[in-house]
Amino acid sequence: MKFMRAAVVHGKGDIRLESVPVPTAAEGELVVRVRGSGICATDIKTLLGQGLPKNLPAILGHEAAGTVFQTGPGVEDFALGERVAVYPIAACGECFYCTRGRHNLCLHEFGLGHGIDGGFAEYVRIPRQIVNIGGVVKIPAQVTFEQAAVAEPLSCCLAAARASGLTAGATVLVVGAGPMGLMHLKASLWHGARVIVADVRADRLAMAESMGASHCLDANDEGVVDQVCQLTGGLGADVVVASLGVPEVMERYFPAVRNGGVFNIFGGPPAGRPVPVDFRWIHYSEIILTGTFASTPDDFRQALSLIGSGEIAVTDLISHRFGLEDMLEAVDLARRQEIIKGVVIIPGEDEN
Ligand SMILES: [Zn+2]
Ligand SMILES: [Zn+2]
Repeated sequence: MKFMRAAVVHGKGDIRLESVPVPTAAEGELVVRVRGSGICATDIKTLLGQGLPKNLPAILGHEAAGTVFQTGPGVEDFALGERVAVYPIAACGECFYCTRGRHNLCLHEFGLGHGIDGGFAEYVRIPRQIVNIGGVVKIPAQVTFEQAAVAEPLSCCLAAARASGLTAGATVLVVGAGPMGLMHLKASLWHGARVIVADVRADRLAMAESMGASHCLDANDEGVVDQVCQLTGGLGADVVVASLGVPEVMERYFPAVRNGGVFNIFGGPPAGRPVPVDFRWIHYSEIILTGTFASTPDDFRQALSLIGSGEIAVTDLISHRFGLEDMLEAVDLARRQEIIKGVVIIPGEDEN
């Protein structure tokens, strides 16, 4: 039996580099040799105990790109060694939601790092559900593995823009300039929107400015919501994307959305922290209060293609590259919000 190195989670805050068997591909499945694997806020939250997998030990990581290492019987569309990025949700393809293209809401979903082993390992098994829904996507020649690993988080921002009905000329307020907030900025600019970004950190605002935000507002300032209104002719933003996971902070920005606008709860809030919402406001101001979570395979393919065409640059988001053996350090830095986007890099023959 062949063995591989993997960052294995045993419990809250307990992640260890271990040698475990390389998975094999059953019928309809693939095994991918991982080359780039993005570290997501979800991974950090999970490691810190929020929604630890029921079955431990487990391997996290749902932003994987690499090469096809093995194809199971019946898989004919992929050649060994082919470069691929992986949509992480194993959606059934047949339920109410899947047949309407809303695979992220699949009634039977599970996925990489969420029910089955994920991409913080040298090899990852891709279940037939992901193969069947077209979730294994060939990487354009000019795209590196680390760039391809960013397709998944970018796809979540494209999903949010779609759900918010974002169109050219709209004004978007992005609250929170972490990695996802900065990706919302990029996705919104691609849609032709004008983007205002608010954050408490000056360094993050400086990044947002360099990436094309028209206005960067200090969220420490009491008057930050008033400033949004001043920048929008007194109306408020067409779309507010709350790209942080703190309900009490999100709530503060309710008045920043214009009448008839969309307020999108994007950052995953913790359990048991409801905030009050004035139904009079929702009714008389015709506010669309919504949320988006993950993305669909179509969003994922679009994200990879926009990275490939250069329409959305992602390399400037990747602030840190780690080896598998540095996972603990990576998690610690991410927890302290000292990185923008971290990617685990696993070297291989093809140095792309
Ligand atoms: Zn993620
Ligand atoms: Zn389904």
